[in-house]
Amino acid sequence: MSTCQICSSSLLELIDFGPQPVCNRYLADPDTHEYRHPLILSQCPNDGLLQLGRPWPSDEVRPRLDWISYKEPERHLDDLCDRIAALPGVGPDTLIAGLSYKDEPVLTRMEKKGFTRTWNVSLEELGIRHAGAGMETIQDVLSADLGERLRNMKGTPGVIVVRHLLEHSNSVSRTMTFLKAWAGAGGYLILEVPDSEQTFKDLDFGTIWEEHVCYFTAFTLGRAFEPFETNALEVIRYPYTLEDCLVAIVANRPASSSLPEAGDQLRKELDLGANFKAGWQLLAVRCQKALQQVRDAGGSTVIFGAGHRAATFVNLLGLDKLISCVIDDDPRKAGLHLPGCQLPIVTSAHLHSERPTLCLLAASPDSEKAIVGKNQAYADNGGRFASIYPRSLLAWEQLKA
Ligand SMILES: [Zn+2]
Repeated sequence: MSTCQICSSSLLELIDFGPQPVCNRYLADPDTHEYRHPLILSQCPNDGLLQLGRPWPSDEVRPRLDWISYKEPERHLDDLCDRIAALPGVGPDTLIAGLSYKDEPVLTRMEKKGFTRTWNVSLEELGIRHAGAGMETIQDVLSADLGERLRNMKGTPGVIVVRHLLEHSNSVSRTMTFLKAWAGAGGYLILEVPDSEQTFKDLDFGTIWEEHVCYFTAFTLGRAFEPFETNALEVIRYPYTLEDCLVAIVANRPASSSLPEAGDQLRKELDLGANFKAGWQLLAVRCQKALQQVRDAGGSTVIFGAGHRAATFVNLLGLDKLISCVIDDDPRKAGLHLPGCQLPIVTSAHLHSERPTLCLLAASPDSEKAIVGKNQAYADNGGRFASIYPRSLLAWEQLKA
């Protein structure tokens, strides 16, 4: 029986998607045997945290291609840095530390504000040697010993910034133990994660990803720290088109009083999980029917953007036989196949030569306008763009029913 990352309660299984491939493992040959692992969405009945019931082995999730990296939103970082600078006890002499390339933009901003002691720990300092290592590998090496070792290296950080790692952690408990050992008593942890509340409300399927173990909302993030004897002072939500960002400002000391009863809010969290579970098969049938109609009328459908969101959307909604190929102009992806569905990846020239009826947009919503603009001739010739993101202005109508 799987147990909760935060409170160790037995989890409630919401959806078992069956064995799924690793989304970053593009195939050169579609006949290659693919590693698969059960993808099981679960929820804790005690605190409402949505999470994968059986986290994936980090060795399998680690990219085999060294050019794979992910860009996190940065528009909110000026505001976040103002807040960090204003924390009681934080001053120009405070050591401000980060743990990955995702934290660099915060450290750079803090330096510009006059904080001269910053340190972004390198992969080498973490003892990691794989060239393509990302969050899946970093989260796997964290321990109390490593925390102590880092503290001995450059002294006690007053602030540790960790963006988009907590949700990748196969053990939140181990990550928190590491951070507590590294930070000084009275130090602060700045933990940023994606906000899953609206994406789950919208049945935004691209949001499910084997690399994300936990799917936090403002409520579940706010209550995630007390069991580790740390104190969430504030959870801030920053709105974005794709998904909002949540930042928890956490003091590395126990709270002086215990959390209030969860009550109605816990009920809302459990409803969020239950509605997602109830909605997904209806959504799959609706999408399959719509694409079958395109095919029955002699047309075809393609999907634009060969990332993990496209793979998840096609694989989990069972659309693999109804989509002819994936379009992506990244030359490194040309000629490869998307994991799971094994659809070939071709360039946008396909839109103009083959004129598919429907082009589903699965690149970042921020890039949709540019993609549509660049391929205006396709639309002028009767082609149609529709986004897989329910919050996009171009959202596919099947997502809205
Ligand atoms: Zn729990």
